[in-house]
Amino acid sequence: MVISKGLLRTRSYRGEPNYLIPASLEFPVCPNCGAEWMTSSQIEILSEAFEKQRKERRQNPRVHTYKEVILTGLRMAEVEDIMES
Ligand SMILES: [Zn+2]
Repeated sequence: MVISKGLLRTRSYRGEPNYLIPASLEFPVCPNCGAEWMTSSQIEILSEAFEKQRKERRQNPRVHTYKEVILTGLRMAEVEDIMES
């Protein structure tokens, strides 16, 4: 068992890649099959964060993914703002 934690973790949501997992979220992951174990409150935090990102993508179609935003030079402080808000 390994713990998933840290900045810039992404995963797919509703068929779209590169949704950003909140930096504050730490949970165990199976190293063999990738299964994730989250508490119900962590799942709630994650789905709220993903819904917020999905809305932002709809409002700004030029921004395809947070990963692209980050790779095109967003400062780390701004990334943290996004993930905390
Ligand atoms: Zn497993």
